[in-house]
Amino acid sequence: KSDLVIVYHRLPLEEYEENNVVKQRQPKSPNGIIPTLLSFFGDGKKGSWVAWSTFDDSYQGYQARSPIDEENYPNLTVSKITLSQEEVDIFYKRFSKEAFWPTLHTFWEQASFREDHWQVFLKINRRFAEQTAAEAAENAVVWIHDYNLWMVPAFLREMRPDLTIAFFHHTYFPSADVFNVLPWRKDIVGSLLQCDFIGFHIPRQSENFLDVAQGVMPITVKEKQNCAPRFLTYGCAVGMDEMATKIEVNGRTITLGALPVGLDLKRVKQTIEKKNFQEKVAKFKSDLDGKKIILSVERLDYTKGILPRLEAFELLLAQHPELISKVTLVTVCVPAAKEMLIYRELQSQIEQTVGRINGRFAKIGWTPVQFFFRAFPFEELVAYYAAADIMWITPLRDGLNLVAKEFVAAQGMTDGNGVLVLSEFAGAAAELRGALLTNPHDPHDLVNTCFQALTMDEAEAHNRMREAFQVVEHYDIDAWGREFLETVEAI
Ligand code: UDP
Repeated sequence: KSDLVIVYHRLPLEEYEENNVVKQRQPKSPNGIIPTLLSFFGDGKKGSWVAWSTFDDSYQGYQARSPIDEENYPNLTVSKITLSQEEVDIFYKRFSKEAFWPTLHTFWEQASFREDHWQVFLKINRRFAEQTAAEAAENAVVWIHDYNLWMVPAFLREMRPDLTIAFFHHTYFPSADVFNVLPWRKDIVGSLLQCDFIGFHIPRQSENFLDVAQGVMPITVKEKQNCAPRFLTYGCAVGMDEMATKIEVNGRTITLGALPVGLDLKRVKQTIEKKNFQEKVAKFKSDLDGKKIILSVERLDYTKGILPRLEAFELLLAQHPELISKVTLVTVCVPAAKEMLIYRELQSQIEQTVGRINGRFAKIGWTPVQFFFRAFPFEELVAYYAAADIMWITPLRDGLNLVAKEFVAAQGMTDGNGVLVLSEFAGAAAELRGALLTNPHDPHDLVNTCFQALTMDEAEAHNRMREAFQVVEHYDIDAWGREFLETVEAI
């Protein structure tokens, strides 16, 4: 039995099949959170990691429970729940992306709500809870991650009242008038209120949750905290001056926290220190013929504001002909899985818009928009971050945005003077002092802020980058994980 159970939909390792034999390997590019969560078990702590797998006993070599890395984490067990391909499609690729994702990001008019999909969601969440209950020692800490597992706390509390249940919400949490369109809002909020600790990236998201919860049942706020100086308070769409940190519901106390996920700085540093890194940066610049580089990096998603940004770039070139042949917009856009039908139309709209802009402004030797519809390895991205003059990140709504922090880290570590232009509606905007904030819903503001960045003098750019880098440096992914667990342990 485990003292700490991580409940995360993804496995910390990659499973693959060869001739009907299942094998495991370290993921090629793990996101920063997985190694941090694993690091809690580095000192021999007994733990489990509950996640889904699409394999089962019919494959040779499949183990439902197995150590993940006996050398580094001798007491950590991976405990798998087998989901059929159909269950993964409905639970993860369809329902989460069609009902929850749009609503959470305030695009509720794009959401579709299917009761049969909700039933699949409940069934899978219950299985996660059962598996967790079987893994957890008495009075253990359980740490559940993100909205895919919203209903786990309710099922788990019923099965195991002794557990300390903590939840981190990685995705944006919208205001009550948006969240309340969800047909199952009472079940979801009721489930989250079974936790002992609920963490969000920024105070605004935590306050939005509280507002939703107060509409569902009576809640007393027991303690509040001033959000400054850790977060921007005024002048930013997601700023907030104070937030509730302890609430009481039905005689139980719940702690709320704002802990914006940080970066794996060691990984960025190792990348920058590699032998050929500077060559990569120089090559990228020379391939673009010394033009100013505006960079954007994101997944294909309407929440990322890709189309409004492309349209703003078109307007920028039209309004400032002096920029023709002088700046290139480089966009890395990671395509969505083909089953995610909701993204298909957006991809073709983007392709048309890029074609239109390039057709309208291109000259021999200069393509205004270089659009890459594919994922780049992290090492390549870091070289792009270091080479860019401006990072233009304009989500219409985003829980945090790690790319913004990665750019700041790469620039900060290479003593660069790049300018971060960041949407006010990204969680990171509440944290990253020094960024130029922009409203992606306002085409003129997008154009003017980008132009301001392009024409900023070096001293101001330098100071702004130092200020942002201090934030990123001070609170990395390890600090985030430590703060989360220390808060839970104090409870
Ligand atoms: N990323 C990557 N390759 C790419 C584009 C993005 O590895 O070609 C990574 C990027 O480094 C970042 C993550 O994907 O760590 C995106 O995280 P973010 O918080 O910005 O957005 P999300 O996709 O989680 O909404």
